Amino acid sequence: MRTNIVHAGADELSYEIREIVDFGLELEKEGAHLVWENIGDPVAKGEIIPEWVKEIIMDALKENSTFAYSPTKGLLETRKFLSDLRSKEGGEKLDADDILFFNGLGDATSKIYTYLNKNARVIGPSPAYPTHSSAEASHAGAHHLTYALNPYRNWLPDILDLRNKIHYNESISGILIINPDNPTGMIYPEQVLKEIVAIAKEFDLFLISDEIYSNIYYGPEKFVPLSRVLDGVPAIVMRGLSKEVPWPGARCGWIEVYNKDKDTAFARYIKTIHDAKMLEVSSTTLPQKVLPKLFSDPRYKEYLKRRQDAYRERALIACKILGKVKGISMVKPSGAFYLTVVFNQGALSEKQALPIKNEKIKKLVENKASSLPPHALDKRFAYYLMGGAHICVVPLSGFNTDLYGFRMTLLEENGAKFEKILRDLSEAIEKYISSC
Ligand code: PLP
Repeated sequence: MRTNIVHAGADELSYEIREIVDFGLELEKEGAHLVWENIGDPVAKGEIIPEWVKEIIMDALKENSTFAYSPTKGLLETRKFLSDLRSKEGGEKLDADDILFFNGLGDATSKIYTYLNKNARVIGPSPAYPTHSSAEASHAGAHHLTYALNPYRNWLPDILDLRNKIHYNESISGILIINPDNPTGMIYPEQVLKEIVAIAKEFDLFLISDEIYSNIYYGPEKFVPLSRVLDGVPAIVMRGLSKEVPWPGARCGWIEVYNKDKDTAFARYIKTIHDAKMLEVSSTTLPQKVLPKLFSDPRYKEYLKRRQDAYRERALIACKILGKVKGISMVKPSGAFYLTVVFNQGALSEKQALPIKNEKIKKLVENKASSLPPHALDKRFAYYLMGGAHICVVPLSGFNTDLYGFRMTLLEENGAKFEKILRDLSEAIEKYISSC
C-alpha cells in the first residue's frame, strides 16, 4: 500500500470470550461434545423467556410504527420513561435529552472510545470485560491502562493504586467502572464509589459506569447506581436489555449522560458521540418500544427476583464444590452471572496436561498448547480442559490481567447438569495441577 493503512490500535483488539470458540468447534468436529461456559448469554444456556414478555413484544409487532426508524437519540417516550424512573430512584437529575440509544452496549462502547480524543485515556479495572479494554486501547493505539481489582480482598479496587496512576499520568481523563462487575461478580460498595467520585473530582476527570448488570445482584453487597453518589461529576452510565430481560439479540443498550453542562469539553465530547450516532440514522426500534411496558409490569420485578435467587443459589453451590479444590481461590460473586477462579501462585506450569483418550483431539490440543508463548499458562489449562473434560471456559488472561485463572458462568439452568459440570471441573483442575 502507498501509505500505512493499518490502524494504530490494530494489535489491541482481542475478545477471548469468542476467540476460544473456534478451537472448541475444531474439537467438536472430532467428536468432543463441549459444555460452553464461555459466553454470558442466558438464552443460549436455556433461560426461558416468560410468555407475558413475548406477548408484550408481539403486541408491539402489530403496530406499524414498530417497523419505522427511531429518532437518533431513541424514542422520546422511552427516554422520558427512563428519566422518570431514575428520578424515582433518587439519582442525580437525568434529562430525557441526555439519554442516547445504541445497537447494544457493544456499539455504545465502540462510539464512546472512538470519539474520545486519541490522547485522552480512560483507566479501567483489571481484570476487565474485554470490549472496554480493547476499545479503549485501540482508540489510543497503546495498551489499556488499568487499576487492580484484588482477588484476595473480595475483588475490591485498589484505590491507592488508582489514585497514584492518575496522579502520575496526566493523559488519564476518565475512570471506567463496571458495576456489578464482569468477570469478577464484585459489586462496588457505596463508600468505594464515593472514593472514586472524589478522585474524579480532585483530578477533574469524567466517569464511565457500565451498569448493564444493574438488576442482577444477589448480595451480600447492595448495588448502588453511580448516579446516586455523583456529586456533580460528569459521567456516562451505560445500561441495556441484553442481560436482564435477557434479550441480547435485540441489540439494545443506551447511555445516560449526567452533569454534561458542568464541563464544556465533556459537553462537546458527548455532542460528538451524538453526531456520530446521527450518521448511523437510528437504533433498533422494537426493544425501545417495549421497554417501558416491560419495566413497569408488576411481573417484571418478580421475574428478576426469581433469577437473582437462582444465581445466588448457583454461586453458593459453585463455591462449595470448587472451594474444596487445592491450588485455586475464588470469591463468591454478588452480582452479574459469572464466577472467576484464580490459580494460586505457582500452581500452573508449562508441563501440565490432562489425559485425552481420542488421539486426534489429543494432537489438536498438544499442537495448540505448544503454539502458546511460555507465559500463557491459563490458556494452556483452558485448551486441555476443552480436550480432556470437554468444558469451555475463558482464560482470565483474556480479561486484561496478569492473574492466571478462568471465568465460567452461573447460567446452567439444569441443576443436576450444573453440579456435574462443577464436579468434572474440580476433578480436571486437580488432575491438571498434579500432573507434574
Ligand atoms: N458490558 C458488559 C459489562 C458486558 O458484560 C457485556 C456483555 O457481556 C456488554 C456490555 C455488551 O452488552 P450488549 O449486549 O448490550 O452489547
